[in-house]
Amino acid sequence: MKLTNKIAVITGGNSGIGLAAAHEFRQQGARVILIGRKPDAVATAAAAVGGDTLGVVADVSRVADLDKAFQTIREKVGHIDILFANAGVAHFAPLAESSEALYDEMFNANVKGAYFTVQKALPLLTEGAAIVITASTVAHFGMPGASIYAAGKAALVNLVKTLALELAPRKIRVNVISPGPIATPIFDKMGLPAAAVQEMGGAILSQVPLGRFGQPEEIAKAVAYLVSPDAAYVTGTELLVDGGMAQG
Ligand code: NAP
Repeated sequence: MKLTNKIAVITGGNSGIGLAAAHEFRQQGARVILIGRKPDAVATAAAAVGGDTLGVVADVSRVADLDKAFQTIREKVGHIDILFANAGVAHFAPLAESSEALYDEMFNANVKGAYFTVQKALPLLTEGAAIVITASTVAHFGMPGASIYAAGKAALVNLVKTLALELAPRKIRVNVISPGPIATPIFDKMGLPAAAVQEMGGAILSQVPLGRFGQPEEIAKAVAYLVSPDAAYVTGTELLVDGGMAQG
């Protein structure tokens, strides 16, 4: 119960890693606010997490949506102790087949979304608050087909360094979590045939020293550490939870 009485906001909280973090934070005593872009999915997830969990609908790639979401949080909850900027999408294509639309979709959701989530949360963050942004192990190596995704995640690994310095005067800590391949619905949302997803999964697996996909709960526990008092002296850094993949 290391998060007792904390108010925790999670973007992309209706699925995968975000939903696992919502359960973990609540188990550790926090009140959770889930942000997601699909009203039904957000309502279902909030009910599944239970208690006084609040669901708020916003597309993080739209700054106007974020303004409204944090206004709602201000009115209903008042402040934020923990911010997990986790929403993200993964649509892959080789450079030769990429488009402006794909680039904009990916950077808008993954980079602009995280950046303005933090900015819009700032007025509500308490002194000593903790922020975690979700990047990826793929920020550290090349992966054919993943150029836009990987470059965006690498941007987030750097982003926390500057944010940690800017927010240190308010004792706000900012860190990045970089998962390896985690068994979540993200792979089914790639718009690829099932056989292609399976083939990609096999190729990824062969690069993981621990020889398996991770579970969303394993990321949730690492994030719970980063936002807890146990990590009170940890800021501006990255925690890789990737079965050793970045070391190969
Ligand atoms: P997921 O189950 O698909 O969850 C992603 C969440 O982000 C979903 O709730 C999704 O909403 C939401 N989201 C996406 N774009 C959004 C937008 N524009 N506005 C609001 N919400 C948006 O996938 P996941 O694996 O848990 O991914 C969570 C994070 O981990 C992502 O940043 C991802 O890049 C990162 N990551 C995942 C892996 C992995 O192997 N799974 C590895 C490294 C990093 P919908 O449900 O509406 O799609």
